[in-house]
Amino acid sequence: MTETAKAITPEIIACPEESAALPIEHAAIFEERKDQIHRIGEGAFSMACNRDSLAGAVSQRACVFCGSRVVLYPIADALHLVHGPIGCAAYTWDIRGSLSSGPELHRLSFSTDLQELDVVFGGEKKLAKALDELIPRYEPKAAFVYSTCIVGLIGDDLAAVCKAASQRHGIPVIPVQSEGFKGNKREGYLAACKAMRTLVGTGDISDISKLSVNIMGDFNLAGETWIIKDYLTRMGIQTVAGITGDGRVDDLRRAHGAGLNIVQCSGSTQDLAKMMRDDFGIPFLRVSWIGIEDVAESLYAIAEHFELTQPELATGPDGGIVERTAALVRDELAALMPQLKELRRDLEGKRAAVYVGGSFKAFSLVKAFRHLGMEVVIVGSQTGTEEDYRELAAICAPGTIVVDDANPLELSAFIKEKDVDIFVGGVKERPIAFKLGVGFCDHNHERKIALEGFVGMLNFAKEVHASVMSPIWQFVPRRELRNSPVNTGEEA
Ligand code: SF4
Repeated sequence: MTETAKAITPEIIACPEESAALPIEHAAIFEERKDQIHRIGEGAFSMACNRDSLAGAVSQRACVFCGSRVVLYPIADALHLVHGPIGCAAYTWDIRGSLSSGPELHRLSFSTDLQELDVVFGGEKKLAKALDELIPRYEPKAAFVYSTCIVGLIGDDLAAVCKAASQRHGIPVIPVQSEGFKGNKREGYLAACKAMRTLVGTGDISDISKLSVNIMGDFNLAGETWIIKDYLTRMGIQTVAGITGDGRVDDLRRAHGAGLNIVQCSGSTQDLAKMMRDDFGIPFLRVSWIGIEDVAESLYAIAEHFELTQPELATGPDGGIVERTAALVRDELAALMPQLKELRRDLEGKRAAVYVGGSFKAFSLVKAFRHLGMEVVIVGSQTGTEEDYRELAAICAPGTIVVDDANPLELSAFIKEKDVDIFVGGVKERPIAFKLGVGFCDHNHERKIALEGFVGMLNFAKEVHASVMSPIWQFVPRRELRNSPVNTGEEA
């Protein structure tokens, strides 16, 4: 065994006994990962995070290219060309959809399909040829060209090929420097933001109201951008651009005309918000469109911002913007709360595990589960910061496991130890849940049900209820053990 292999040999450590009725589970945790896991109540809070994944630990994280693709692909009238082997382009629209109210060019996946000869002799000619074929055929408003691992290795000059293609075809052809190996998913977000920044500031903004926003960090996976846009319209606020939900190239060009950037999922688009603050003086607010409190607080924060900065515009015949927002929240809650109460009756006391890409979602989900009478006993993310986890630890109960950049081995062990009723995650977490025989709720890019806004909270509650209350779970081996006479104390 080499020294490296020795260094990542997992150590079996004992976890506290959770229930006398269940076998004690043990978590296999690599020595180097111990400082990325915290059990609330066991010692002072301390977590290492925001670092490269441990080799050999099979991180749940995606690569840099995947991060940039997630952010840019919802721009529906752009051409998205993956320069690399065909496998990199595997996540098509059909798997990770994003709805558009107009053009749907983003539903098509294009790849230069690099082969062995291209790797030996370079892929620049093949890339130029692909652009010359695709741009006249599909007439996109712009083209994004994604660099993958192999392109970084063979050294194709992406920027030069894109610049020449842009001159030939008269549209922006934008290189996205997203070589998969050069960091984690967060680097991909930054590459996407840099690519979008080249468009921002190039459009006419003369007809944009000062009472206007860009909706950032929502990707309209199941129509969520439209839900948020509707709330904003009812508050009297114009939406300039969805960045990138229901996104358009021309909207991005005009995005610098907005009075405020509202940023969800701070990891994915906050870098662009910072660039726009520095370059155009546009302030930004961090928001969350998940749950009840967070949605209401986000709407009030936007209203208060405009009441403060644009008092003359924020007041209309039906009162001020804050009053309009209060009426909106009141109406939505009046419709929502009685339905939640019904669902809560069955869910009270059940337990949930949450493992998501960005930590903002974890915060909102912890609060959302409380409205259902449920407790989150495992919570983690791919890209959270120490501050994020410290705040998460502050709002979760003692005994809750907080984990950064987890892997399937850890998640499986934690889920068995805590005996959760539902696991909330994405496409890579789904098989873990089903193999262990617990309910699953997809809260990631593969979902088809809108889970944002007040209506999203209702959809979420219905989905959790349907999954948790399914009779199927009583037949999985672990549950049979829990329900056996030995553990229930009944006579055999
Ligand atoms: S890690 Fe590299 S090879 Fe794999 S999908 Fe990402 S860009 Fe492609």
